[in-house]
Amino acid sequence: MKSALITGVTGQDGSYLAEFLLEKGYKVYGLRRRTSTPNYENVQAIKDQIEWISGDLTDLPSLIEAVRIADPDEVYNLAAQSYVAASWPQPILTGNITALSVTNMLEAVRIVKPTARFYQASSSEMFGKVLEVPQKETTPFYPRSPYGVAKVYGHWITVNYRESFDMFACSGILFNHESPRRGLEFVTRKITDGVARIKLGLQNELRLGNLDALRDWGFAGDYIKAMWLMLQQDTPEDFVISTEETHSVREFLEVAFSYVGLNYEDYVVLDPKFVRPAEVDLLIGDCTKAKEKLGWKQEVNFTQLVHMMVDEDIKRVQAEARY
Ligand code: GDP
Repeated sequence: MKSALITGVTGQDGSYLAEFLLEKGYKVYGLRRRTSTPNYENVQAIKDQIEWISGDLTDLPSLIEAVRIADPDEVYNLAAQSYVAASWPQPILTGNITALSVTNMLEAVRIVKPTARFYQASSSEMFGKVLEVPQKETTPFYPRSPYGVAKVYGHWITVNYRESFDMFACSGILFNHESPRRGLEFVTRKITDGVARIKLGLQNELRLGNLDALRDWGFAGDYIKAMWLMLQQDTPEDFVISTEETHSVREFLEVAFSYVGLNYEDYVVLDPKFVRPAEVDLLIGDCTKAKEKLGWKQEVNFTQLVHMMVDEDIKRVQAEARY
């Protein structure tokens, strides 16, 4: 039986990945940060099937102990301060968690089990003010937020451990990927939650920032399969994962509101509070390499993704409203 250690297992990607690996017969270890108010919402259904290990990404001894306990074949480093907007008011925390902690995790693996295969969650935010359209593995980075800057560090330290210590370390450059489990502060989930509340008469406006930003949005449940595929190859390499389509926030609004028979223009209010100090205007990925080498392809398209998220939010908001 193979074993995997996942950091960030209670998040969107971690929960989908844990389900996927459990189905494949893996023993799944999840690193959890001690807190007085734990949140297991995303992993409710599989909570008892995960072997929980307490630890913190900023605390190397706890990571060394986690790798010792799990003795993993594969390590998926998904934990981070992952919200771009929060990285301006908390740039140091973002740097400590999203950048430097990748080295902690790599060190723990190098010290305890250097043969374990390592996946680093890199991000299309590294492309930022894009230097090429579409963006692929060889496109230079130009991050536009403390988050993007931190992810560039995480990316290069992963490459560096591969080249310095001959570790099987891969970096997956994933473009935005969403689902009903996406955090409520991200624009996609904020919109689908807003649509549900407006449709059910619980809210009458939705306050947003820049509607012209273009993103390459895929389904998280498809993207975690690419993470696993990267670690099953003969040689460790980095891959872009994307849908190769781009849509504006405005298009997301149109599809989400019209799905429930509403016009977004009647409800959306522009609020400067949600406009960022520096913006990533356009992301669109070229994932030819992943298609050819990993045999990966997306299953859920843009419209299906938006509809799935609206459906789930309507169900959840309805259930909450009953109590
Ligand atoms: P990101 O691509 O990782 O930053 O994902 P987000 O979902 O947080 O943001 C996607 C895009 O939506 C960015 O260009 C934001 O500026 C834009 N956006 C517009 N209004 C909002 C808002 O109210 N909240 C968020 N999170 N993003 C917004």
